[in-house]
Amino acid sequence: AKDDSRGSVYEFEPEFAYNAKAKYLLEQDLMSALDKNEFVLYYQVQQNLSTGSVAGYEALMRWQHPTKGLVSPADFIPLAEETGLIVQMGRWALKQAARDFGGKDNNTRVAVNVSPVQFRESNLIEDIQQALAEYDLAPEQLEIEITEDVLIEDNSNTLNILEGIRELGVGLSLDDFGAGYSSLGYLTRYPFSKLKIDRYFIDQMIRDERSQSLVKSILSLASNMGMKVTAEGVETPEQLDLLIKSNCDEVQGYLLGRPEPFSKINR
Ligand code: C2E
Ligand code: CA
Ligand code: CA
Ligand code: CA
Repeated sequence: AKDDSRGSVYEFEPEFAYNAKAKYLLEQDLMSALDKNEFVLYYQVQQNLSTGSVAGYEALMRWQHPTKGLVSPADFIPLAEETGLIVQMGRWALKQAARDFGGKDNNTRVAVNVSPVQFRESNLIEDIQQALAEYDLAPEQLEIEITEDVLIEDNSNTLNILEGIRELGVGLSLDDFGAGYSSLGYLTRYPFSKLKIDRYFIDQMIRDERSQSLVKSILSLASNMGMKVTAEGVETPEQLDLLIKSNCDEVQGYLLGRPEPFSKINR
């Protein structure tokens, strides 16, 4: 029996079939969700620490599923990226954020997450320009958040797109900074206007002196390079205190506010 299972896919086939089927069903579901307009953007406040006022909001996608309720992005973004559906979903998110924050009477900044797939498989600059123009969102009101996954390919196309974003006057944030394989070289090669320190370090910095030193070093590094810093995942007054004392620019986290529908955010 042992010999049989070795080298035979049969034993694994039911599970494989199940996964493939589950994926297929989710993909169908995602396509119809796009059609039926079931995606929504929630917004989480980002607070400016020197003025104490609202600096802007980060747009975070949710899926308002007819039977499953509100589905978190962790449960559908990976497959959306795998299937390429994230291109349309990301285009929708840019437009929706621009629709919510555009117009003459609104100067509030909004940050939108962009997937590596959108860099490879769409004309991102064009999508951004269209969203800005269509809903009268000023370029300074928009920030694009990317993770280092975008930079791993490290080709001239990526650099061109990132420079194009900055040339529009749109902000560019490096998300989850410090997590993963962050290379300091990224900071010299690419035109970031902001670093977002991963919430892992904000969590660690209270109990661990080395994490605290790291956060402080990131802050001075960024300041020397002309970049702003947002601390992510701020949950306690102790963390906030320490970030204020360390001259962090902006904070975001459950302590300041949870992601909420546009109709609920206090503007
Ligand atoms: P992210 O871009 O790093 O977003 C921050 C995540 O941390 C959000 O989770 C947010 O709700 C959560 N968060 C905020 N404050 C706190 C806190 O104080 N403590 C803790 N524990 N968590 C906090 P969310 O909304 O579930 O999003 C998860 C990820 O899904 C995002 O991580 C981003 O990578 C991705 N995502 C969300 N919306 C979009 C989108 O429109 N496009 C793309 N490509 N990715 C998206
Ligand atoms: Ca405006
Ligand atoms: Ca983000
Ligand atoms: Ca993040």
